[in-house]
Amino acid sequence: MDEIKALKIKLDREKKARQKLELFLENQTRQLYVAKQKAESASKAKSQFLANMSHEIRTPMNGVIGMTCLLLETQLSAEQKEFVETVKISGEALLEIINDILDYSKIEAGKFDIENINFDLRLTMESLSDLVAVKSHEKGLEFISSVEYDVPSLLVGDPGRLRQILINLSGNATKFTQEGEIVIRVSLDSEDSTQAIVRFSVSDTGIGIPKSRVNAIFKSFSQVDSSTTRKYGGTGLGLTISKQLSELMGGQMGVNSEEGKGSEFWFTAVLKKQSQRKREEVKNENIKGKRLLIVDENATNRSVLKDQINRWGCRYNEASNGYQALQKLIKASAEQNRFDIALLDMQIPEIDVKTLGQKIKKDHNLQNTKLVLMTSIGNRGDAKRYEEIGFSAYLTKPVKASQLFNCLTSITGEQKEPEADFDSSIITQHSIAEHQKKKLNILLAEDNAINKKVAVAILNKLGYKVDPVENGKEVIQALGKNIYDLVLMDCQMPEMDGFTATQEIRKLKSKIQTIPVVAMTARAMKEDRDRCLEVGMNDYISKPVKPEALLKIIEKWTNI
Ligand code: ADP
Repeated sequence: MDEIKALKIKLDREKKARQKLELFLENQTRQLYVAKQKAESASKAKSQFLANMSHEIRTPMNGVIGMTCLLLETQLSAEQKEFVETVKISGEALLEIINDILDYSKIEAGKFDIENINFDLRLTMESLSDLVAVKSHEKGLEFISSVEYDVPSLLVGDPGRLRQILINLSGNATKFTQEGEIVIRVSLDSEDSTQAIVRFSVSDTGIGIPKSRVNAIFKSFSQVDSSTTRKYGGTGLGLTISKQLSELMGGQMGVNSEEGKGSEFWFTAVLKKQSQRKREEVKNENIKGKRLLIVDENATNRSVLKDQINRWGCRYNEASNGYQALQKLIKASAEQNRFDIALLDMQIPEIDVKTLGQKIKKDHNLQNTKLVLMTSIGNRGDAKRYEEIGFSAYLTKPVKASQLFNCLTSITGEQKEPEADFDSSIITQHSIAEHQKKKLNILLAEDNAINKKVAVAILNKLGYKVDPVENGKEVIQALGKNIYDLVLMDCQMPEMDGFTATQEIRKLKSKIQTIPVVAMTARAMKEDRDRCLEVGMNDYISKPVKPEALLKIIEKWTNI
């Protein structure tokens, strides 16, 4: 009997213990669940906070950078100009740091998305080269950029992020190089029918990186020289972000470097090919089969030009100095195999380019060869002087492939009647752009008074006509009254925001329905940009809006 009682007590006790344990476990699970919820909402809050911060900081930065750009265009004393330029450079540097920190925290949180949009790799590279060229020429460095001929152009991927990596690498290359050259080269690693693995490399002739430090530089916040007395600024985040971005694009990143000699940073990206591959619209009938002589002392420059010319079906020969060039021209003419065009770099040894030009134009056996001058040190009035010698075109480096193409086709095209009263018939980048630029009507929707002022002033400076309105409702009204080529739309506006306005436009029954709408947004997060596209906008540009970026996007959506 006692035994049964004791067993019952024991069972009771065990039951209670089990119940206690169950209660404890349930409690723990609940607590874990609550903790998980908290963590998730904290992470959401963090992401939201970053989005808001980025918005809040970018909006006033738009005013600061925009106004300084405009101020620089006004009459200023040398001292004032220097002050304003410093404000601009500091503003841009601040913005870069904000962007880096934003990216870094997003990558850390696994929230970074790579876009998949159709883009033209050669156009992306051209606009990037413009930017890098200015910085490297300021330091007296030669800048060369080339996309090898077999790399496909029409791809699907994230051109913005490719650009970000390349800007970062070439920014470093310029920072750590005192003399010599910066070369960006794009080549094809491999391809199949659906995708291409493209290799990008940025090489410099700068200080290089000691072997022992090569692995460390890809780690966050790490720099070769991290002493407090270090010579070069920076956050040490650029390469970390770049490496992770290239990995997100299915590629890799690495470096080959020799201390004191220079570095080559490279990365690869897997890019899909566009499905309906338009045949490249190169109307190269005019220049196909033409004979070109490339005269440049720099071998890399010659090879880049050869590559471009090859794509257009031209034949070419090369010379590294003025004397050699003259010999080749004379020989070709004697063999009845005259060169149609000579591309002459401004700085060639042996015979200077002016003398060479005069000799060619005075010799009746040679004078039919058209002369194109390419220079990285343009001075005012130069174009006119070279025109007098008989040059047909004067191009400032870096010359984009599309500009060179336009230039070559127009000088080899129909023979122009000599126009005696025409002030300047020499072809320059400016005349090529002007020729292609139409007068456009732009509708701008922006409620913030300062930002409106900035945008209107920039658009006017760029030569566009612009009508400003202050909210979505006014956009719809204006579109009913006038004909516009493009709408630049702020997203957050009173009465009717940019998203609703765009949806309304897309519902209209007339042709206006298809007008290109480009968002101007201070929100830099992908979700915000996705929303723009979801409601039917064609593109977006983030604030602070810079003149060059605005020009590019207008040109993109108005087919100039
Ligand atoms: P930051 O340049 O902002 O410090 P990065 O991550 O871009 O950060 O670069 C990290 C470090 O790698 C630099 O501080 C520098 O020491 C080294 N480095 C990067 N690029 C080069 C280069 N082209 N030549 C020499 N050193 C370089």
